[in-house]
Amino acid sequence: MASLDIDDTKAAILDCHVCIVGAGIGGLMLGILLERADIKYTILEKHPFHNPLGSAICLEPSVQPLFRQLGLMDEIHRLSKPFGAMIFREDNLNIIGTFSAQTPLDINDRYGGYNRIIARRDLCALLAAQIPKEKIKFGKRVLEVRQNAGEVIIRCSDKSVHHADILVGCDGAYSAVRQGLYADLSAKGELPKQDNAPMGYQYDCLVGVTDPMDPSKNPSLAGKFSEFQTILAKDANCSYWCIPLVGNRISWMVVKFHNKGRKYAEEQLFKHSGWGAEAAELMSYEFRELITAYGCELGEIMDNTPKGSMAKVMLEEKFYKTWYKGRVVLTGDAVHKVLPFGGQGANQCIHDVLALTNFLVQLKSNTVPDIEELFESYFKARSPVGRTVVNMSSRVGNLMNRKGMMNDIIRKVALRHMPRWLSQIINDKWSYDRPQLECIPFVEVPGELQPRPQKRSAYVPASLVEREPTSP
Ligand SMILES: Cc1cc2nc3c(=O)[nH]c(=O)nc-3n(C[C@H](O)[C@H](O)[C@H](O)COP(=O)(O)OP(=O)(O)OC[C@H]3O[C@@H](n4cnc5c(N)ncnc54)[C@H](O)[C@@H]3O)c2cc1C
Repeated sequence: MASLDIDDTKAAILDCHVCIVGAGIGGLMLGILLERADIKYTILEKHPFHNPLGSAICLEPSVQPLFRQLGLMDEIHRLSKPFGAMIFREDNLNIIGTFSAQTPLDINDRYGGYNRIIARRDLCALLAAQIPKEKIKFGKRVLEVRQNAGEVIIRCSDKSVHHADILVGCDGAYSAVRQGLYADLSAKGELPKQDNAPMGYQYDCLVGVTDPMDPSKNPSLAGKFSEFQTILAKDANCSYWCIPLVGNRISWMVVKFHNKGRKYAEEQLFKHSGWGAEAAELMSYEFRELITAYGCELGEIMDNTPKGSMAKVMLEEKFYKTWYKGRVVLTGDAVHKVLPFGGQGANQCIHDVLALTNFLVQLKSNTVPDIEELFESYFKARSPVGRTVVNMSSRVGNLMNRKGMMNDIIRKVALRHMPRWLSQIINDKWSYDRPQLECIPFVEVPGELQPRPQKRSAYVPASLVEREPTSP
């Protein structure tokens, strides 16, 4: 993609303060983008520090040009492994089929990079390191959001009060920003019925990342590529995943399918929603004796996981129809909560905040009509994708976890007989859009399939103009 000269653009300072709720992947990436765009912002995070819980994240080729443009791709390479293959096995370890990054289609050749597999905590630490410390405020659980024609007022559990022109909810599946916004809309009778319904819930999940393990016992740990070992355990009614990370560590996940109905879901939600360490230990006992492809039991891998760092989470899914009102807008899991099987959660929240920033730099004024106009453009650009990824992750979840002869046949056909042309159609759909931040210079994007063209924005951050004068 050719980068435009900045001569034909004009410098401006956007006099707008953005409050970001949540320092997860979406909130941190939005902070970095606003930093580069010279837009004032503050991040409010409920935890007293970056929450280190979680397992692995897959960064697709579709977000890699942005990391390259931000100068972070070398670090991503250092902290991650390229995805090589996902090997699916039965309870007895017999191979059902393999999903490979190289055959029938080489992902690197076509899109300029393999998917990168990185521990969530490593990715969050890298993103957080790009943001000035004073701009992330920890221990700020947002409780209440009010807005009027002139501003948004945010009240936190520590009694602090914050003011902003725009509020972005990057606060995940149980978003307090969404709940506040929806309560207001519901009181006025303006909330679609679907947005009031609970999230779909059919899986419990246990995750962790080990300390470095001995690669002489498991040579595949030291391999260049990350080869997932996924066992579809019909007897134990679960699937379990081992994912090699850099540093001879294993990211692991057990997913248990249940179909116990709404009442059970509500009880569970009350007890442990979110990524919590409390219930993890208890759940782990059920799965310790499962055999892994590394020749050891899952219990041995769990024992190599630092104490207190395992997390249990209810895997929920839902697409919400309402993404904004007035000065408040939602992103990521707050509006499209996906199951982790399609590897889309982190990628799509990055796409959301990038699209939002690319519209934000076009903001004409700080008035509600102009802000809502840009939110509508963001909604139109991102909501069709959000809806698709929720549906897709649900289907992939069924394919990977459901029992039954039909599912067995579909799994085998999909994994063993996928022709190159079909793989290319599916992957092109996801990887044609490889967007960058439009107010700073673009970088070249490698790969046989060039990305959808983008235009530089007319807005140029003041700091960039100081470094690169526009006049000859
Ligand atoms: C601790 C944790 C571990 C995870 N582990 C994995 C994993 O292993 N694999 C995977 O595929 N996905 C994982 N996810 C989910 C994945 O990160 C998201 O699907 C994806 O990145 C979308 O992110 P998001 O920014 O929209 O929300 P999230 O990543 O959920 O981030 C939301 C942030 O908002 C904060 N927050 C919530 N409520 C408030 C409030 N009221 N006030 C202030 N702050 C608030 C949260 O503490 C969190 O930091 C994890 C999420 C979390 C929070």
